[in-house]
Amino acid sequence: MTTPTHASGAFAPATPQTTPVRIHADRAAGTLAIEWADAHATTYAFEPLRWLCPCAHCRGEAGMPGWLDSNPTLTAEQTTLTDLHAVGNYAISPHWADGHKTGYYTYVLLRDRCPCPECGARRAGASGSGTHAPAPAAGTHEEHR
Ligand SMILES: [Zn+2]
Ligand SMILES: [Zn+2]
Repeated sequence: MTTPTHASGAFAPATPQTTPVRIHADRAAGTLAIEWADAHATTYAFEPLRWLCPCAHCRGEAGMPGWLDSNPTLTAEQTTLTDLHAVGNYAISPHWADGHKTGYYTYVLLRDRCPCPECGARRAGASGSGTHAPAPAAGTHEEHR
């Protein structure tokens, strides 16, 4: 009898939507294409992919802003993908020409941020069908004065 000993509780259950069947980095075109088990296709250009880097350096940690929060001008090296490594069965780690390779892009993240029009419309629809923000629940709002 074995018990899973994953330290992280962040694993989402594998679904066809977040299971890649094919990942192809096309350095000539500057795109990363992912085909999912539910037959959806996602294509990221390298630059927006670099902006998504989820690592602590880029995103910040413990309340500190990350490097990408300073709105840097990305150089050609920083947006040139040189290599792509699988991380377990839940993420990929792009290596960039400037040497940066600490970003683990989970499949959940990559599918969630899919830049295709269909997914863009779905995200827009999910956040506001008619009204914009959800109405604040009375009594649960902490006041700061
Ligand atoms: Zn990073
Ligand atoms: Zn999509």
